[in-house]
Amino acid sequence: MNATAGFPSESEAAIAKTFANEAALSVVSDAMQLFGANGYSGAYPIELLYRDVRDFAIAGGTTQIQRNLIARKVLGSGRY
Ligand SMILES: Cc1cc2nc3c(=O)[nH]c(=O)nc-3n(C[C@H](O)[C@H](O)[C@H](O)COP(=O)(O)OP(=O)(O)OC[C@H]3O[C@@H](n4cnc5c(N)ncnc54)[C@H](O)[C@@H]3O)c2cc1C
Repeated sequence: MNATAGFPSESEAAIAKTFANEAALSVVSDAMQLFGANGYSGAYPIELLYRDVRDFAIAGGTTQIQRNLIARKVLGSGRY
């Protein structure tokens, strides 16, 4: 069964997921930089947040697959 069956728009969901992934990744990356070596170490939650957010771009459909989906919607099936 298609996991997106019943949702209003597969491509809008893909756009939202990709945008949220990339925004969150940018934020945690800046936060890790601000914390310096402490951010990279396990002493603060930044390291865990970074790993969690990095996973969002893999699990539930990778960013590349989301982009393929968006391209298919924009360009039409079979044109990407
Ligand atoms: C923490 C975590 C939780 C997960 N939970 C679940 C779960 O609950 N249920 C479940 O079913 N799966 C789950 N997964 C698996 C996850 O959905 C897959 O890891 C993901 O779909 C990528 O598949 P893959 O690892 O086989 O990579 P591959 O499919 O081998 O892809 C490797 C790389 O190539 C890119 N790629 C592949 N095909 C294309 C293409 N056609 N065009 C462009 N780029 C492409 C991918 O984007 C990726 O960057 C989980 C993964 C993680 C890390």
